[in-house]
Amino acid sequence: MSVVDRQEWDVVVVGAGGAGLRAAIEARERGARTAVICKSLFGKAHTVMAEGGIAAAMGNVNSGDNWQVHFRDTMRGGKFLNQWRMAELHAREAPDRVWELETWGALFDRTGDGRISQRNFGGHEYPRLAHVGDRTGLELIRTLQQKIVSLQQEDKKDSGGYETRLKVFQECTVTRILKDERGRVAGVFAYERESGRFFVLQAPAVVIATGGIGKSFKVTSNSWEYTGDGHALALLAGAPLVNMEFVQFHPTGMVWPPSVKGILVTESVRGDGGVLRNSAGERFMFDYVPDVFKEKYAESEAEGDRWYEDPDHNRRPPELLPRDEVARAINAEVKAGRGSPHGGVFLDVSTRMPAEVIRRRLPSMYHQFKELADVDITAEPMEVGPTCHYVMGGVAVDSDTAAARGVPGLFAAGEVAGGMHGSNRLGGNSLSDLLVFGRRAGLHAAEHAASLAGVRPVADDAQLDAAAAEALRPFSAEGPGADESPLPGEAEGAARVRGDRPPENPYGIHQELQQTMNDLVGIIRRRAEMEQALEKLAELRVRARRAGVEGHRQFNPGWHLALDLRNMLLVSECVARAALERTESRGGHTREDHPEMDNAWRPVNLLCRPADPTGGLAATDPVRGQIELVRETTPPIRPDLLALFEKEELVKYLAEEELYE
Ligand code: FAD
Repeated sequence: MSVVDRQEWDVVVVGAGGAGLRAAIEARERGARTAVICKSLFGKAHTVMAEGGIAAAMGNVNSGDNWQVHFRDTMRGGKFLNQWRMAELHAREAPDRVWELETWGALFDRTGDGRISQRNFGGHEYPRLAHVGDRTGLELIRTLQQKIVSLQQEDKKDSGGYETRLKVFQECTVTRILKDERGRVAGVFAYERESGRFFVLQAPAVVIATGGIGKSFKVTSNSWEYTGDGHALALLAGAPLVNMEFVQFHPTGMVWPPSVKGILVTESVRGDGGVLRNSAGERFMFDYVPDVFKEKYAESEAEGDRWYEDPDHNRRPPELLPRDEVARAINAEVKAGRGSPHGGVFLDVSTRMPAEVIRRRLPSMYHQFKELADVDITAEPMEVGPTCHYVMGGVAVDSDTAAARGVPGLFAAGEVAGGMHGSNRLGGNSLSDLLVFGRRAGLHAAEHAASLAGVRPVADDAQLDAAAAEALRPFSAEGPGADESPLPGEAEGAARVRGDRPPENPYGIHQELQQTMNDLVGIIRRRAEMEQALEKLAELRVRARRAGVEGHRQFNPGWHLALDLRNMLLVSECVARAALERTESRGGHTREDHPEMDNAWRPVNLLCRPADPTGGLAATDPVRGQIELVRETTPPIRPDLLALFEKEELVKYLAEEELYE
């Protein structure tokens, strides 16, 4: 096998979004030589697209806010499935992370008296989202990048080189986590997208911060990078994923024109007063307030409208229910024939705010609709519908250290990590999650690396050879051994006889995968459809192994997609298997055949593990699949945190034995 370039670092951070950059800053500040590696250009991570804001209980707009209220809202939003210690740390530490950003140069919008302004969002009791118009993610990334550059300038002064202690490898994709013979992390295997060159970054600590999985679904707000790479990398390294059935469908994506279907319409539109109406002009959300939230939401339009001016004496409008509730309501209205012409519902700000306020508070939305749909949102309603937006499931991590379970030296933070948001994330809680747990991951990765100084784990050459062979397979899809697995229903050995079968087109497989997940494991799920999805995934998995590309390794998007397919198919199987197993409806998982939340499921986590613990894929049975599902009981919620809720409320969520305890 060819010799690949190897570099030594203390900590490697995979991903340069909010979580990755915050982790890298912390690791470098703790003295670790840190490499950041990202698939896109530096600064182009998904975080940059975040619009509405970052949730932190600073109490700037309503002094009633504090970490306990934020914790309560987050647990309610997640229907109590949240890893409660993460929700606690997040609520306690988010304000410090926002103030820290300000000291690093972030320019947030201000209140009249000069404090960081905070806006309303679904599920948050008080105005809590610090924001920069509707371009908050851009400011967050800009600030973190600026901080990285300032650290590199310090390094130049101290050591003569900008990149001696903190280096960014942009447009490079990691395909495997490497381990030593004791199962400890030893680094990553990657390729440069431009040249196709392979290389290895050796390090005893790796932080995965690769974001989400949305590109497995047809209608999504997510960008091209969200192919579930980090989820798959962790799984293949032997770390389990937790609660992958929980996928958030944001209620408001664009539905028209078809070329932009799925692009996000920020929740700030509703936070700032926008209302949802059906084709009959009715504000239908009043009909969809579930029992667990009845006391907290307005019963009439008049009360809901008064809340914007006087939140202390009125209840909030139901347009601001958590996202899962609003998405299901829109879905139901469309299904009942009360949808808009293009299969959504109407979201209107034009009758709620003067045009110049709309343009000032929602500048991106104004331009997005004007340019992409020729709709002037200051004069007419938008048409919106649910879009796949966020994955709550992810790498199972230790709450305090962000260490991935079962693989020493592996850490995960940001959207790729599971647990924090339970069954449904509240808007704004992702940006704060990135900073709180990005920092913690960087800190503990640096400590872990320091503890191994002098005895660094090393991956053997066989692993590198296997990683290189796996990455090159699409160039020889018809070659010997390219496909020895039968398709479902075919006899063992049939594939070898089918020598004349042409290679599969990765783009075609991707489209079929997206359609399958959208139609069969989407916003409303049914047993028979999920079983059908698993059969289809098994077929696609076999065909994906024959996905072939032409040309060479220099910037070859078909090749890149062929490699991403492995990851998307793995995470899709996790979603489908876990969704089939959980026979209740909760947060981002709605079963038509089990429509109620079942308290007996509250203390149950579903873990996905690789069926082949060595991280191999080809050897697994294509029909049985690549994933093994394990049920696990969650640790009891700490009594002082339970005491933050009324007993009557807990009765709605907790399992009987938990209440008894
Ligand atoms: P990302 O920011 O996506 O970064 C992932 C990084 O990993 C990228 O650098 C990518 O190149 C890299 N990567 C991926 N795979 C590989 C690989 N194999 N090898 C190397 N690098 C890899 N949340 C809020 O809290 N508030 C909001 O207002 C908000 N608005 C949103 C608006 C939109 C349109 C969308 C789509 C999301 C929004 N969210 C919001 C959610 C939030 O933006 C994301 O959850 C969050 O940014 C994820 O950050 P991250 O650091 O985990 O991942």
